[in-house]
Amino acid sequence: MYRTHTCGELNLRDTGKEVILSGWVQRSRDLGGMTFIDLRDRYGITQLVFNMETDAPLCKEARKLGREFVIQASGKVRERSNKNLKIPTGGIEIEVNTLNVLNPSKVPPFTIEDDTDGGDELRMKYRYLDLRRNVMKNSLELRHRMAGEIRKYLDQQEFIEIETPVMIKSTPEGARDFVVPSRMNPGQFYALPQSPQIFKQLLMISGYDRYYQIVKCFRDEDLRADRQPEFTQVDCEMAFAGQEDVLNTFEGLAKHLFQKIKNISFNGPFPRIAFKDAMDRYGTDKPDIRFGMELFELTELTGGHNFPVFDDAEYVGGINAENCAGFSRKQIDNLTEYVKRPQIGASGMVWMKWNEDGSFRSSVDKFYDQAALKKWAEKAGARKGDLLLILAGKRVHTQEALSELRLEMGRRLELLRDDEFAPLWVIDFPLLEWDDETTRFYAMHHPFTSPRPEDIPLLETDPAKVCANAYDLVINGVEIGGGSARIHDGELQKKMFGLLGFTDEQAKEQFGFLIEAFTYGAPPHAGVAFGFDRWVAVFAGSESIRDVIAFPKNNAGRDLMIDSPSELSDQQLGELGIMVDEQGTEQ
Ligand code: ASP
Repeated sequence: MYRTHTCGELNLRDTGKEVILSGWVQRSRDLGGMTFIDLRDRYGITQLVFNMETDAPLCKEARKLGREFVIQASGKVRERSNKNLKIPTGGIEIEVNTLNVLNPSKVPPFTIEDDTDGGDELRMKYRYLDLRRNVMKNSLELRHRMAGEIRKYLDQQEFIEIETPVMIKSTPEGARDFVVPSRMNPGQFYALPQSPQIFKQLLMISGYDRYYQIVKCFRDEDLRADRQPEFTQVDCEMAFAGQEDVLNTFEGLAKHLFQKIKNISFNGPFPRIAFKDAMDRYGTDKPDIRFGMELFELTELTGGHNFPVFDDAEYVGGINAENCAGFSRKQIDNLTEYVKRPQIGASGMVWMKWNEDGSFRSSVDKFYDQAALKKWAEKAGARKGDLLLILAGKRVHTQEALSELRLEMGRRLELLRDDEFAPLWVIDFPLLEWDDETTRFYAMHHPFTSPRPEDIPLLETDPAKVCANAYDLVINGVEIGGGSARIHDGELQKKMFGLLGFTDEQAKEQFGFLIEAFTYGAPPHAGVAFGFDRWVAVFAGSESIRDVIAFPKNNAGRDLMIDSPSELSDQQLGELGIMVDEQGTEQ
């Protein structure tokens, strides 16, 4: 028997028991005649003690143990004189009488501690060691519990989990596909699913009216902290259901998770905000509403004062930093630098202070007198002592920059509390997005999203104005998931493909089976998919989804531990009928 107990369960009630424990050496300390070893496993840490006076040979053995050795120790549980009240096992220790080294360990490349000395790269390379750390263990346990609660809730709601294939044909979620060559069909490739979108719609047509799946999806796109080339979705679809049904059912899921995992209950429904209002009020379609500081627009007040930057701008708007009129020149310059970063891309920033003495001061006093500035303050809903930060330019771009500035101010003023959660639905997304570069429309969500029925006539006359029955769930500024009511009419679907620039042949070639399926009795249906990694990261308070994935990839899409992607042998390439363009592989 390797162990009678884990390293996390013994306490004062067990005093006197003979026990066997197995685990890793977390650390050891020699204090005079005693040696103490912290023994660690998944469940916790238990202190082992060796006494030079009573058993010198054993104590000498113990002194030879290095960090991360795997050992087995047996002995008696006894009360500790120097108790550690921070851990459940801190009241006891094991007076060891036999010690067995199950496997020695090389000195680990970084310390397996909460506060480790290992950098990101090193910890990625030795991920299996990093996973021994408490933070990682807690993340993976959280992930497991969330998946369990999701299954429990959906099961109660009559959803069934159905697996869909991983080797498929391109799905149009807007990213590049990862592809897999087919040896048996030379020159042909499978695509890995960007989502199970098409299959879940087909399942609705097959009559499985409540489907879900916790499923890997693959998108070949540039990576950021909240993106991985392979990630996990909680993918769901309902038939005989529309937007309202989906929002209610999955608001229920969100509330269930908040309750079970975070012990937080929400009274009343989550707020809902239309896409356009989200842009006007927060400058983003994923607003963090833990704090106010909403955007205000000044475009109508700023023209005609001979200040070209504002005169020429499509949009002038700002945010009100309450009680910040005392900001120094340096603090303001620093914010200006912040908005001028290439990622944010503002060309400059105008500020205005409402001083305690009632006067206004701004960086554009040359152009705007006190009366004009007062109007700004009124529009901003400002009070004495406030500071307005103002940007100008193209509408959407400037609103997005203001959104970043707002979040930065939220951080600097410590308005974003980690233990607070502010979920909301963003609804009424536009169906289509125009792209100036390729001069065509793109589906804002995906091509199967249904327009609002009342907007269908606009598809002919003014497609850009058409709103979709689409929705996103946002928590603390993170897009946790999104979905839509679907088109279930083959003709409308064809029209949609046409608007998106597919010829009839292309649409038929790529999605012919779906259009055909619509002709065999497709029920109305709607669905949603949640980014599971993101949801876990938000609950874990992590900035990066990598922290909640056991074996993630780095920003270059590499797994540093298994060293992948890697080259294929000539024989494998030959079998697949693939030739690698050496030029193409050189960076
Ligand atoms: N397939 C969509 C996505 O991955 C979600 C959905 O519409 O259900 O974003």
